[in-house]
Amino acid sequence: MSIDFRFAPAEEAKFVAHMKAEQRPSALICTCTALVVWIAFICLDFIRVDWLQELGHGHADAAVMIAMRMVTLGVLLTTAWALFFHWERYPSLTFLAVVTLALSASVIVSLYKLRGAPAITMAEFAILMAVFLPLGFTFQQSLYAALIVTITVTVTGLVFLPASEMTKHLQFSVMLAFTGFIGSVGAALRERSHREQFLMRRLLHEQATTDMLTNLGNRRWFEEQAEQALAEAKTQREFFHLAVLDVDDFKRFNDHYGHQAGDRALQSLGHALKTGVGDSRCYIGRIGGEEFAIAARGLKGEAFRQLLRSLLDAVEGLAIPHERSTVASHLTMSIGAATAGADDTFETMYRRADLKLYDAKTRGRNRCLIDDKRSMANPESSPAPNPERGRVDKPAAA
Ligand code: GH3
Ligand code: MG
Ligand code: MG
Repeated sequence: MSIDFRFAPAEEAKFVAHMKAEQRPSALICTCTALVVWIAFICLDFIRVDWLQELGHGHADAAVMIAMRMVTLGVLLTTAWALFFHWERYPSLTFLAVVTLALSASVIVSLYKLRGAPAITMAEFAILMAVFLPLGFTFQQSLYAALIVTITVTVTGLVFLPASEMTKHLQFSVMLAFTGFIGSVGAALRERSHREQFLMRRLLHEQATTDMLTNLGNRRWFEEQAEQALAEAKTQREFFHLAVLDVDDFKRFNDHYGHQAGDRALQSLGHALKTGVGDSRCYIGRIGGEEFAIAARGLKGEAFRQLLRSLLDAVEGLAIPHERSTVASHLTMSIGAATAGADDTFETMYRRADLKLYDAKTRGRNRCLIDDKRSMANPESSPAPNPERGRVDKPAAA
């Protein structure tokens, strides 16, 4: 039987990382509870039998008993440490902790039975397993854990217990196998619901950050990405640029061709801009009605200028007719941009780029102007003497 809920590899990796972060607090609570329970059992041991004295008399079972208690205590402490300090391999440790607990508990219970001392078999197992239920094991992990625990407990009993105890022991093993299986089915249902919630959350996040018309990131998404990219560029002392792109005379376009044609034009523009930007270190979003924005990290001034020019060319290349344009016979865009200085924030850069966009509009549209004050990537460089860039060759609108 195979129950496999896994997503495609890239999505699965995100899900696993998400679950690790999500499960950590409950795993920490479980492990700490198990620690308290285990320490309580150790105290009970010493109330019932003076194991240290027995150890002094050279009794082997006392040595095994103390070793088992201590090894398990060590594994639980390590697991708690891993969970507390965000060690990302904690799931393997929690798995190890469950198996070690089961092995120790079964050996210790057998040792008590061998001595004819009252053993609290069911209580000890029930408490330990209940503690680990909310660990968030997947179906497969639960099944493996149940299998290993059942085999370990059965084999330890077969090795240690006298023949008179065997029937009871095998009955207990069968019960343990059933309990493990039922626990695994529970884990499968839990895993399924975790995966559904994960997909739902991703869908909501995508809807909240995607512009449905162009499929580009929306303003919220763009601002988040740009702010993060700017912060990273500052620490790495890299170039960072922000550009605001606005369709020219789009109101006239809508008035003449209709709103639906306007929507289709925006889709084509979005696609052309996205294709033109290409680079994964550039982010592009639709930040308003007919406004797009680009954040570029790591591009030198001239390369960025080239990129913006190529985008204007790509827009013209679409050759979307615009009879009512004051600039050309087809749809065009204007761009205002700014290169980050050391003290710039996203807001100051946006303001500077927007001012340049306003200049580009008043100077005749279908052009790109860049405000490249001292760059933080190269603080010694002076601003270029002529701030006007790009399509100064285009005639201004009449
Ligand atoms: P300018 O060259 O100065 O930018 O002129 P403009 O006409 O493009 O600017 P204005 O701000 O006057 O008009 C923008 C227009 O964009 C108005 C609005 O109808 C249109 N618009 C905004 N969002 C959408 C949209 O989602 N779909 C369509 N079809 N039109 C939109
Ligand atoms: Mg506008
Ligand atoms: Mg416009």
